[in-house]
Amino acid sequence: MFVCSLCEKETCYVSKFCNKCRRIKHFLNLYNDRVYDVLDNVLAREQDKQENKVSLEIQKEIKINQDKIKTRSQYNNNKKLLDLEKNKN
Ligand SMILES: [Zn+2]
Repeated sequence: MFVCSLCEKETCYVSKFCNKCRRIKHFLNLYNDRVYDVLDNVLAREQDKQENKVSLEIQKEIKINQDKIKTRSQYNNNKKLLDLEKNKN
């Protein structure tokens, strides 16, 4: 019983690589350096997208909270006006 030589996480009983890493090895045999290029491009872009997504989500959250505050303050102002009107009568 060994640990996979590539990911160093999965346990291997027969070969040097676990099943998932054997697929990577297979791609390396088929596509050579193209695998590294694809991994660099895709993973780098994925990171950007993740950051954009996080940023967008934070902006959305801020907008929702601002709207809540605005709505609550408008409600409170309207209630104050109504109370004032009631007290007049
Ligand atoms: Zn592995």
